[in-house]
Amino acid sequence: MSKTIIIGAGAVAGVAVHKCCQNHRVFPELMIASRTKSKCDALKAQVDEKYGKTKVTTAQIDAMDTPALAALIKDYGADLVLNLALPYQDLAIMDACLAAGVNYVDTANYEPEDTAKFEYKWQWAYRERFKAAGLTALLGSGFDPGVTGVFSAYALKHYFDEINYIDILDCNGGDHGYPFATNFNPEINIREVAAPGSYWENGAWVHTKPMEIKREYDFKEVGKKDMYLLHHEEIESLSLNIPGIKRIRFFMTFGQSYLTHLKCLENVGMTSIEPIDYEGKRIVPLQFLKAVLPDPSSLGPRTVGKTNIGCVFKGKKGGKELTRYIYNICDHQECYREVGSQAVAYTTGVPAMIGAMMLKTGVWKGAGVFNIEEFDPDPFMKALGEWGLPFQVDENPVPVD
Ligand code: NDP
Repeated sequence: MSKTIIIGAGAVAGVAVHKCCQNHRVFPELMIASRTKSKCDALKAQVDEKYGKTKVTTAQIDAMDTPALAALIKDYGADLVLNLALPYQDLAIMDACLAAGVNYVDTANYEPEDTAKFEYKWQWAYRERFKAAGLTALLGSGFDPGVTGVFSAYALKHYFDEINYIDILDCNGGDHGYPFATNFNPEINIREVAAPGSYWENGAWVHTKPMEIKREYDFKEVGKKDMYLLHHEEIESLSLNIPGIKRIRFFMTFGQSYLTHLKCLENVGMTSIEPIDYEGKRIVPLQFLKAVLPDPSSLGPRTVGKTNIGCVFKGKKGGKELTRYIYNICDHQECYREVGSQAVAYTTGVPAMIGAMMLKTGVWKGAGVFNIEEFDPDPFMKALGEWGLPFQVDENPVPVD
């Protein structure tokens, strides 16, 4: 019987567990394994009551302990691990997958805990080992990275002879009513937005100060929002995998209240990842901040509004210039009614389940380490519509200047 292990029991894992249980034919048996077992048990109770077809078990695991995790995978008899813990654990989990001989899927690339720098080089270094073992590692199967890479592969396959410009737009028009809270893990989120920005142009990285580049964009079903250029991991892989590309940028919307709070927290040193001594203990200010902020998985009931996330592509077809915006709109409250989570976790957890499904059903196969845009986008795009994230195509979008 096909068995899957999900590692992590946070906001994103919560959605993925619901989706796997809805898709019980592909996920007849599922283990939720995380650092805090009570969270796994709470999730199991939810899905057992709601769906009842997938046989769900739970386990306590520190994913940094590779031998213990490899033993857990083997004892359970899993054929795939879906890593929905934090980016710091990626390499330890990939090592465990190699040791246990199973496929691997994640949604965020590896980041060392002591440097806020995320790059694919550490995970790409596993290519030969996964290839030699005949195993697949699928990297970045969330929304961004994830669906944005699938949109890019789909645009290239169906609309363009060559894509020259990609602007990835991540708009969250949701309102949770708190003056300051993050929609996914606060530590990872703040590390990402407080870091210098960068984009890729004419074969090289262009570096910017944090939040230096701002644009206003009118998002369908959300309205006008300020968005800011950030560094984002899929730029690195898309710049290699989309032939003819000249520039890739990533923009995320932020409200004024979020930015004002962030600036203040930065100014007083609360976003620092340098450990400090506090009453005889070493603490990391950002980790302490995480502990006092609302848990993202608790935002579901109070978040209203929609997300609009997609890619504006500019390129050529038959010698003519062409622009397309491929995007998804997701409603926070609809997500909450369906799986008890807000849309940011939903838009990540659904593609995580779909990526795992692509490997488990053999629709996507290959030995090695792959970014999502390297596979055929069509079955994934079809599954997005079937599992709650239908895409739309705007054939005449407003470009980002
Ligand atoms: P949460 O903080 O809500 O959940 C993380 C989970 O991982 C928690 O259950 C946590 O356990 C568990 N965990 C942490 N460390 C370990 C460890 N050493 N061993 C076992 N379990 C551990 O995060 P999110 O659900 O918001 O995010 C999950 C992942 O999704 C992150 O990597 C994030 O970067 C990624 N993401 C990707 C997006 C995309 O579009 N591609 C968008 C949003 C998020 P505990 O409960 O004990 O803390």
